[in-house]
Amino acid sequence: MKAAPFTLQAIQQIITEYPTPFHLYNQQGIARTAQKLNKTFRWANGFRNYYAVKALPNPTILKLLIDEGMGLDCSSLAELILAERVGARGEQIMFTSNDTTSDEYRKAAALGAIINLDDISHIEFLEQSLDQLPELLCFRFNPGSERVGNDIIGNPTEAKYGLTRNQLFEAYKICKQKGVKRFGLHTMIASNELEPSYFIETARMLFDIAVELHDQQGISLEFINMGGGFGIPYKPDQEALDIVGISDGIKKLYDDVLTTNNLSPKLFYECGRYITGPHGYLISTVLHQKHTYRDYIGLDASMANLMRPGMYGAYHHITVLGKENESATHAYDVTGSLCENNDKFAIQRQLPQIEIGDIIVIHDTGAHGHSMGFNYNGKLRSAELLLKPDNTVTVIRRAETLDDCFATLDF
Ligand SMILES: *Cc1c(COP(=O)(O)O)cnc(C)c1O
Repeated sequence: MKAAPFTLQAIQQIITEYPTPFHLYNQQGIARTAQKLNKTFRWANGFRNYYAVKALPNPTILKLLIDEGMGLDCSSLAELILAERVGARGEQIMFTSNDTTSDEYRKAAALGAIINLDDISHIEFLEQSLDQLPELLCFRFNPGSERVGNDIIGNPTEAKYGLTRNQLFEAYKICKQKGVKRFGLHTMIASNELEPSYFIETARMLFDIAVELHDQQGISLEFINMGGGFGIPYKPDQEALDIVGISDGIKKLYDDVLTTNNLSPKLFYECGRYITGPHGYLISTVLHQKHTYRDYIGLDASMANLMRPGMYGAYHHITVLGKENESATHAYDVTGSLCENNDKFAIQRQLPQIEIGDIIVIHDTGAHGHSMGFNYNGKLRSAELLLKPDNTVTVIRRAETLDDCFATLDF
C-alpha cells in the first residue's frame, strides 16, 4: 500500500489557507533519499549526483539538495540561471544540453560549468561561441544498437541524443589536439528503470570505453557520468530500486576494469526522479461526478498540473484521503477539465466510492510533475508547498494568477 505522510485533517487545515490544486513536497523524504544515495556510493572517489534541475526546478528544493552535497544538472539557459541564483558554482554545475544555442554555451562557460557535448559538430560550434574551448569537456555517448532502452526514453538508435561510438573517439582526439586538457564521459539511455542490472551494464559499457580511450589515445578520463534514470515504484506492487545492489555491482566493475588499469575516474550520476519523485503529491478536490458510458470523477487539477499520465500513459497512484481503508469497489476515470480526452489521471481505476468534495492525492509528483506544466486552455500553474520536518507547511512557489497568464499579451 502506498501511504501519504499526512492525514485528511492535516490537508483540510492546509486547504483553508492554500486552495487546491497544489503540489506538496515532503522535505524530510527528499533529504533522506539524497543522503541514502550519497551514503551508498561513498566508496566511489569524488561521487556526486548532479540533480536534474528539470525534474523539480524550485530554488528551495535545489538549495536543499546542494546542502546535501549534490550538484545540478542543467540543460537550458533558464536552468543555468536558476543554478546560479541558488548558489551553485563552477563544476557543481553540469550542462547536459542538446540542440544548444550559443547563448547557453556562453552562460555555461561563464559559470565554469562542466560542458557536456551532445554532438561532434558542437566542438566547432562551441569554439565559435566561446572563442576558445574550455579546459574540461565531456561527451554524451549514444550506444545505438549496442543497447536497448525503455519506453520513456526510447531505443538508443531512435534517440536524438549523443554521439556514436566512432564519433565519440574522434571527438576526444580532435579536442585533445585543440588543447582540451581534462575529459569526462556521459551517457543516459534509460529512464525510470527499476532493474539494477541495467545500470551495472551501463557502467560496464562506460568503463570499457574509458580503458579503450586510455589505450588508444592516452586519455585518462577525469569522470564518468552515468546519467539519470533511476526508477521509482509508481505502482503499489513495484519494489523500490535496489541501489545498494547497483552500487555493489559497479564497485566490483570499478575495481576489475578501472583500478586494474590504473584508472580512477570520479563517478557521477544525474538522477532527478529518484531523489524527489516519491516525495511529491498533487492534492486536488473532486468537483464533479458524471455517469455516462463510464463513471467519471472531475478534479480541480488537470493534465496541466501533471502531464505524465496523458503524455506517457504513466501510472500515478491515487488515494482518496480519509478513505484509505475502504475497499476499492468502483471503477472510475479520474479527469481534469482540459478539452482533450487524454486529460485523465487514471482510467478505469478501482477506487473507493467517491463523493463531491473528497480530497484526492495523486502520488509521486515530485519529479517531472509541476515542471512539465503548461497553460493550455488558460489553465494556471498551481502552487508548490513544502511540508517541513515539524509538519508545518510553507509556500515555495505561489499559484499563477490570470494576470500572470495574460502578462505577455497586448489588449
Ligand atoms: C531528464 C534527464 C535526467 C534525469 O532523469 P531522471 O529520470 O529524472 O533521473 C538526467 N540527465 C539527463 C541528460 C536528462 O535529460
